[in-house]
Amino acid sequence: MPGVKTQTRCCIAGGGPAGMMLGLLLARAGVAVTVLEKHGDFLRDFRGDTVHPSTLAILDEIGLRERFDQLPQRRVDHLAGIVAGREQQIVDFRGLKPYDYLVLVPQWDFLDMLADAGRRLPAFDLRMRHAATGLIEENGRTAGVRVEAPDGDYELHADLVVACDGRHSTLRESANLKAREYGAPMDVLWFRMPRNETDPQDTFGIVDRGHMMVLLNRIDYWQVAFLVPKGSDASLRAHPIDALRETVAQLAPFLADRRDTIEAWDKVSTLSVQIDRLERWYKPGLLLIGDAAHAMSPIGGVGINLAIQDAVAAANALAQPLLAGGAIDESLLAAIQRRREWPVKVVQRVQIAMQKRLISRVLEQSGEPPRVPALLRFLLGFRAVRHIPARLFGYGLRQEHVRAAGTSSGRLG
Ligand SMILES: Cc1cc2nc3c(=O)[nH]c(=O)nc-3n(C[C@H](O)[C@H](O)[C@H](O)COP(=O)(O)OP(=O)(O)OC[C@H]3O[C@@H](n4cnc5c(N)ncnc54)[C@H](O)[C@@H]3O)c2cc1C
Repeated sequence: MPGVKTQTRCCIAGGGPAGMMLGLLLARAGVAVTVLEKHGDFLRDFRGDTVHPSTLAILDEIGLRERFDQLPQRRVDHLAGIVAGREQQIVDFRGLKPYDYLVLVPQWDFLDMLADAGRRLPAFDLRMRHAATGLIEENGRTAGVRVEAPDGDYELHADLVVACDGRHSTLRESANLKAREYGAPMDVLWFRMPRNETDPQDTFGIVDRGHMMVLLNRIDYWQVAFLVPKGSDASLRAHPIDALRETVAQLAPFLADRRDTIEAWDKVSTLSVQIDRLERWYKPGLLLIGDAAHAMSPIGGVGINLAIQDAVAAANALAQPLLAGGAIDESLLAAIQRRREWPVKVVQRVQIAMQKRLISRVLEQSGEPPRVPALLRFLLGFRAVRHIPARLFGYGLRQEHVRAAGTSSGRLG
């Protein structure tokens, strides 16, 4: 395609949290990087919006914290559940250091901020509406990607391709890499409802016979995540939306006066929940990270944060070898998988256990009101116990820190 560079040191397919953070960190270290994003903007509703302490630490480390703090956001320092009408504190960030909260921030604002910071770096080349359609293979190595763009298709050659193209990854398919699926008993319906001044202040979950939903306080609206049994979406949508409105009103009586604001099914998005993980995250000349390597359940809101942790680990390992020139050794890519696979695996195991022991049982509608076992209720009375999920989901198990140095022209703040 005329006027478009068709050679780069590192090509990143996908401008989500993983791809944008990796692109930014590599460019900041002086590596020529091209990020391909198939959409024209980051404005897609109901992407993950939870920014955990592990990500806040990275933003501090690269000097973006002040700008991040200016984005529209809400801090959450504890999470409660209302189980069969009885309130139970479950997760507590208060008292944790250095961040005693997580932040709810629209993902598009977060990605716009990263894109904006990237554009200030000479080594950063973000191409919107450029979709990677497949890999170019040469002599048994990935040598670049085929790209579909508004002004014509082209080939982009690169010494390393990093697939950050999400859980329906085109490049994973193209590389014929297989993921192990772990299943999920639920899908999630996402919708908004207006929030009044007199509504509860917290972000919290509600669990009752056969139903489960989470209400995220987004200041002027509630972002509602309503769990339904896996695969039931089509049959629900075949019926009028009144049943959903009624259930929401029963579960959260303070929303009953605005049940009609769930206007129609086309205002409700469905997240088909899946948990999977690639057995092998790399091939010669190719690495996969973020959702492309491991789709997470929404439990704990960890998806963005693990994608960012992967990006930091990859940038730490790859910045110097990419700057040095030459092919990237496969053993380096294997080391990135080894580093990141363990924390991902542990969180996925916890998510799978919670899906089996809690969510499946509630959604099965056994008729019994759900209850928190007495011992667990007792233990959750201690803040130190409520710190455990906050640490696991909020800080992660192997917290990454930015090591790849910024060049003098790579200042972000
Ligand atoms: C409805 C919903 C709610 C969620 N809620 C939360 C939450 O509250 N908290 C949380 O942490 N996580 C949440 N997640 C998960 C979270 O959004 C993901 O785990 C996280 O965004 C993964 O980041 P990623 O960069 O790996 O992939 P993605 O965010 O999926 O980004 C992939 C990017 O690649 C682009 N792309 C795809 N294919 C191509 C291609 N062929 N060429 C070029 N570009 C391509 C896509 O447009 C996209 O921008 C949610 C997900 C969904 C769907």
